Amino acid sequence: MARSTQATAPMPLGSLTQPGARDGARCVVCSSQRVTRISMELTDGSEVDFTHCLDCEHRSWHHGDEELSVDHVLTRAQRHR
Ligand SMILES: [Zn+2]
Repeated sequence: MARSTQATAPMPLGSLTQPGARDGARCVVCSSQRVTRISMELTDGSEVDFTHCLDCEHRSWHHGDEELSVDHVLTRAQRHR
């Protein structure tokens, strides 16, 4: 007499918060949370967060809540001698 016990746990939709994931780390284009986030410091001392989406390949830089343009970051990342 075989008896299959299937655990059908209800899936809470929209609340897939992963432990350890930093708050707000998501793609600004497709809202995916499969992003790589790296904090880096520019030559002028300002700290920016580089976010790379693994789903749509979008790359963006943020300083706090402000989104920075790529040109802005590249200009400041250059080392002037
Ligand atoms: Zn994306």
